[in-house]
Amino acid sequence: MAKLMIGPPHYELMLHPLIKKNYGKWLYHEHVKPGVIKRVSETGDVLFTVRAAIPKIVSVDFVRSLCDIADKYCDGYIKFTSRHAAEFLVVNEEKVDELIKELESLGLPVGGTGKSFKPLIHTIGWNHCHTAIVDAPGLAKAISDTLFEYYKRNDLPAKLKIAIACCLNMCGAVHCSDIAIVGIHRTPPTVDDEIVSKFCELPTLVASCPTYAIKPKILPDKRRSVEVTAERCMGCGNCYTVCPGMKIINPKYDGLAIFVGGKVSNAKSPPMYSRLVIPYLPINPPRFPEVTEAVKKIVDTWIKYAKPDERIGEWIERIGWEKFFKLTGIPFSDKLIDDFIFSVPTFRTTTQFKY
Ligand code: SF4
Ligand code: SF4
Repeated sequence: MAKLMIGPPHYELMLHPLIKKNYGKWLYHEHVKPGVIKRVSETGDVLFTVRAAIPKIVSVDFVRSLCDIADKYCDGYIKFTSRHAAEFLVVNEEKVDELIKELESLGLPVGGTGKSFKPLIHTIGWNHCHTAIVDAPGLAKAISDTLFEYYKRNDLPAKLKIAIACCLNMCGAVHCSDIAIVGIHRTPPTVDDEIVSKFCELPTLVASCPTYAIKPKILPDKRRSVEVTAERCMGCGNCYTVCPGMKIINPKYDGLAIFVGGKVSNAKSPPMYSRLVIPYLPINPPRFPEVTEAVKKIVDTWIKYAKPDERIGEWIERIGWEKFFKLTGIPFSDKLIDDFIFSVPTFRTTTQFKY
């Protein structure tokens, strides 16, 4: 078992001895099979990574179970990825299949490496956020179940990264994921003058709005409150964060939007921002059929038509947005495919787009 040491002076004690010995000397890696990566060092050492998806919110008992497995197979070391997965580092190749069997018997599926559907990133939802439009973990489960086959395969055109943000604040990596599902408020906040005048600091409230949609007003009884210019409001919910009198959640009108084509940069191409392709889908828990169907349709179309190594954004860049909408059957409207910063051509900035 590894020693329990926390803090920078002891950081190297948290590295598996084989990683420490080969630090900076790794030559290459191979995707052996879904969920298993073989890493080879110039010293001749070999290390196997076994990746298992794990829940985002877990109990200490659950973490202890992971640690027991790491003690048994990995000399007491474990690694966590930014996409909610645990990685077990195995020196002895003969232990790999035994480890996979044990992880899967605990309900922790092994996969998500290479050209596969990676574990989905999602925000925290109603677990402890006040502006959540949707139960993001529940939606993550429904989408992951729908695409589970692609988590267990590594023969997709390229890697597939999906993210969910339960409001426009987008705590998740939605801007740079292949597919992003974003919770949207479609109505401006309703102002509760009683709460605003009694409990909220008005300059902070007015300044919280990124689109200058909030302005002060004087009530007939001379108390101070605010009013919202509806046309300016983008439904971000920032005002509700600083003042509980700005009620933004509206189950009747809130919904989900889908963006596609984002990715972070790699050696061969720069980063790409995801763009809006479906402006509204209803929120239908617990299995969100409208969303899972739309995501599956986009993924299956990409798998059918993309060339090897093309991420979704790269595939769309090659075939053009018109063809994307045609192939997927998603209806186009002039409200779509704007990106967040307007720094790349969209239908508003190019004469090449023919819709
Ligand atoms: Fe809260 Fe919005 Fe972040 Fe979700 S995306 S956790 S609702 S701030
Ligand atoms: Fe401004 Fe956002 Fe509040 Fe709308 S929801 S009024 S855009 S802070």
